[in-house]
Amino acid sequence: MKRIFRSQAAQFALASVITLAGGSLLAAYVQEYKSGIIWPEPPVVTPGENGSAPSDAVVLFDGTDMSAFNGGDKWEIKDGAATVRGGGVTTKQAFGDCQVHFEFATPEEVKGNGQGRGNSGFYLMGRYEFQVLDSYDNPTYFDGQCGSIYKQQPPMVNACRKPGQWQSMDIIFTAPTFNDDGSLNTPAYATVLQNGILLHNHYALQGSTSYTEPARYSKHPDKLPIHIQDHGNPVRYRNIWVRENVHELIGTPPEKKADEEAKPEEKQPEKQDEK
Ligand code: MG
Repeated sequence: MKRIFRSQAAQFALASVITLAGGSLLAAYVQEYKSGIIWPEPPVVTPGENGSAPSDAVVLFDGTDMSAFNGGDKWEIKDGAATVRGGGVTTKQAFGDCQVHFEFATPEEVKGNGQGRGNSGFYLMGRYEFQVLDSYDNPTYFDGQCGSIYKQQPPMVNACRKPGQWQSMDIIFTAPTFNDDGSLNTPAYATVLQNGILLHNHYALQGSTSYTEPARYSKHPDKLPIHIQDHGNPVRYRNIWVRENVHELIGTPPEKKADEEAKPEEKQPEKQDEK
């Protein structure tokens, strides 16, 4: 057995040497691909802890006060959470393309049914509602349950925790763009995760959300305030923040590459049959 083991060990060592040597030879003949694009350095962002805001976020509520919102003084602040009370709240700042994070808890004491249980809502640009609802064992119409884009698209899955438990919602939102004549140029897009679970993947919104009307777009500014709904239920919120730095970096193609691309056109030979 020992002899066999030694033999296997020797074979393994030999194979390793061959592999390494082969790797070195390969490295000598293979040229690394480099695009040559000059990239700006990605800015450093320090992540938050336990849902708190990253270093480059606009903090809307960190557990202390709701002064970032008009109407925020009416909501009850207790134990680091803000409870819906006395009307909806609207941010003083306007936002367009953004990443949004908020945490919510529907009332632990379950009251009501369907849309009457733990209802609130997060309206990006004041008109696109991402539904907040107690959808734990609480049937309602699917395009109105928690995490739906209200009356447009149900969430892919029901990722709700039990009433009273804290839940997270993360939205990556691209604002719509409009033509000069008011018509839609590009729709709004949203990717949504509830408790880290994907609900919508780059969904193209059909327009503003409404209880009474079909979805439709009407031209609006690039940035508008966020609104959080008071639907008469004491839903709690915490850790609300927005990041506006959500665009891909743009690189600069090197001049050399541009010159090389231009050369073949300059030196194009004349066609033979034209002579
Ligand atoms: Mg709602």
